[in-house]
Amino acid sequence: MTYNIALLKGDGIGPEIVDGAVKVLEKVGERFNHTFNFTPYLIGGCAIDATGEPLPEETVKGCLASDSVLLGAVGGPKWDTLPGNKRPEKALLGIRSALGLYTNLRPAKLYSSLSAECPLRPDITEKGIDLVMVRELTGGIYFGERGRRDGKYGPEAYDTECYSVVEVERIARVAFETARKRGKKVISIDKANVLESSRLWREVVHEVAKEYPDVEVSDMLVDNAAMQLVKNPSQFDVVVTSNMFGDILSDEASQITGSIGLLPSASLGDTKCGMYEPIHGSAPDIAGQNKANPIATILSAAMMLRYSFDLEEEAKAIEEAVDKVLTAGYRTGDILGTSKETPLTCTEMTEKILEQL
Ligand code: NAD
Repeated sequence: MTYNIALLKGDGIGPEIVDGAVKVLEKVGERFNHTFNFTPYLIGGCAIDATGEPLPEETVKGCLASDSVLLGAVGGPKWDTLPGNKRPEKALLGIRSALGLYTNLRPAKLYSSLSAECPLRPDITEKGIDLVMVRELTGGIYFGERGRRDGKYGPEAYDTECYSVVEVERIARVAFETARKRGKKVISIDKANVLESSRLWREVVHEVAKEYPDVEVSDMLVDNAAMQLVKNPSQFDVVVTSNMFGDILSDEASQITGSIGLLPSASLGDTKCGMYEPIHGSAPDIAGQNKANPIATILSAAMMLRYSFDLEEEAKAIEEAVDKVLTAGYRTGDILGTSKETPLTCTEMTEKILEQL
């Protein structure tokens, strides 16, 4: 089969880590007899420098015409002082909207070979950490009405959280479908004791749950969820939550698994064309030094094979190769822990994974 992939390398370490993932996809293509065509497009700071816009029209058109999108990361200090709608990060919201990507899937798994990197006590992690966060991506407070006005105490600013039944139904379905392929347990996270939008969220999740009698569903308030993630993370299988709660909790979940450099994500909508990216940012502190860990991006490519192309065997081959490399003790700087060994570079880590493929 032939697949056309739009490459959005972006800024900072973006180009280095995307290059690693491309090599891995090419190797998978050789082994399993697929052709992956890659077309690069500008996004973020590099797009601002070249065109004045963080998300050029050509990038949106190119992504819409592709079978899938692989993104590195955007942003950096050079563009930090630009106004909100001109910042590189604005491009992320724009491309998610343009592609109709309303779901963000973030698996967070603690590799047994990396348990020493986990900041939690061994007795807390002995049952393992293996969860998937299903975050709503195109609604809620990040897209709600906002503004500034004169208030009771002078100038004030406001943002609004709003969810429709349809938005909650479709994300809940993704969560239940995901749970069906895993531990058959969904925990829906909200703030229903305070927020009306959360009360609607809860009602709709339970309505949708009736279609999935084989999946256990329960609710958890977001403040409790933040505690439970560090107190008893093995209780979570699939977590479904709103855009802002998911943004915060998925970063927390990533930290308890050791390194931000390991975790992939998939943004999905109603078509097969998804966007796949590591959960970390552009890491300007190590950009251009060949120090970045490419694994999160390589695992994002594996998610692309699974969710956009239905290539489960190929996806597993990548995941197993990564597992073997980590089990063999190979480490980049971010997962070196207290070891005195010289860390692998980004290209060396990619090579190790290619050897296993
Ligand atoms: P960051 O994730 O870029 O970096 C946080 C820390 O983790 C840094 O010390 C960095 O060196 C390290 N790190 C991150 N990825 C790594 C990897 N693959 N290998 C090794 N170490 C890694 O977060 P930040 O510093 O808060 O943000 C930097 C820039 O990235 C900002 O401009 C921010 O807006 C942007 N950002 C972009 C995205 C995205 O493109 N999706 C996401 C988050 C942040």
